[in-house]
Amino acid sequence: MSSAADAPGPVVLRTAGLTKSFRGLVALREHAIELREGEILGVIGPNGSGKSTFFNLITGFSRPDSGAIEFRGRSIVGVGTARIVGLGIARTFQGSRLFGSLSVAENILAAAQLRHPVGPVAAVLRGPRYRAHAREAETIAARLLNLMGLASQADRPAVDLPYGDQRRLEIARALATEPTLLLLDEPAAGLNSGETRALTALIRRIRDLHGVTVVVVEHDMDLIMNLCERIQVLATGEVICVGSPEAVRSHPRVREAYLGHA
Ligand code: ADP
Ligand code: MG
Repeated sequence: MSSAADAPGPVVLRTAGLTKSFRGLVALREHAIELREGEILGVIGPNGSGKSTFFNLITGFSRPDSGAIEFRGRSIVGVGTARIVGLGIARTFQGSRLFGSLSVAENILAAAQLRHPVGPVAAVLRGPRYRAHAREAETIAARLLNLMGLASQADRPAVDLPYGDQRRLEIARALATEPTLLLLDEPAAGLNSGETRALTALIRRIRDLHGVTVVVVEHDMDLIMNLCERIQVLATGEVICVGSPEAVRSHPRVREAYLGHA
């Protein structure tokens, strides 16, 4: 491999001393990570260890008590959810947040329009700017339907999709906002092992095609070990270790605190 390929890319996300409590309970304590462009980081830990809190802090759903969050070198502490999407950070949620009565294509279009907003005045006038944005959103949606294997389902109401397809649609919606940082909260939850393997390959393909940086919170150890270049382990809000899959697998506190109960 060439030295250029080995050279670390720019830092996309950096947290330091990131701390969040809820009524005296510390959900995340002194969290620190530095993510490089194109990297796939896994975050594991038992229920209640602070994984979703980490995502909520980065995406403006929750405000830290203290600590730094930088996206491409710029602080995003206090930045609201809509502006976070505009900056290029997208996420999925642990539970489904699909618009059940909208079609698959409409779910993706709605998300694409978050990144290519059609202002109320422009929408009324249906002017060239509106048409350009609408066309852009439609192009993005069509591309994503194909990428995610959902093209044949485009016109079905999201609620009628098989469960595995719904999970992929949630990722498609996040991608529709054209993120450079993608946060996936338990994307394999409820999938069987075949579906999980296919999802693992798909996430890697998304990274390879789009060059996005990915953080995956997940309980499924096969997905984590096969997909992630680095893994961070949390327990009761604290970072226990971060390292390669091999290093994490053999870490004594990880075996004891998490893998033993997985
Ligand atoms: P994980 O995603 O690893 O299961 P969470 O980040 O959801 O864990 O939660 C970490 C801890 O913070 C848990 O004890 C949880 O009950 C608590 N917590 C998370 N969000 C809130 C909230 N909005 N209000 C109160 N407590 C919360
Ligand atoms: Mg969670």
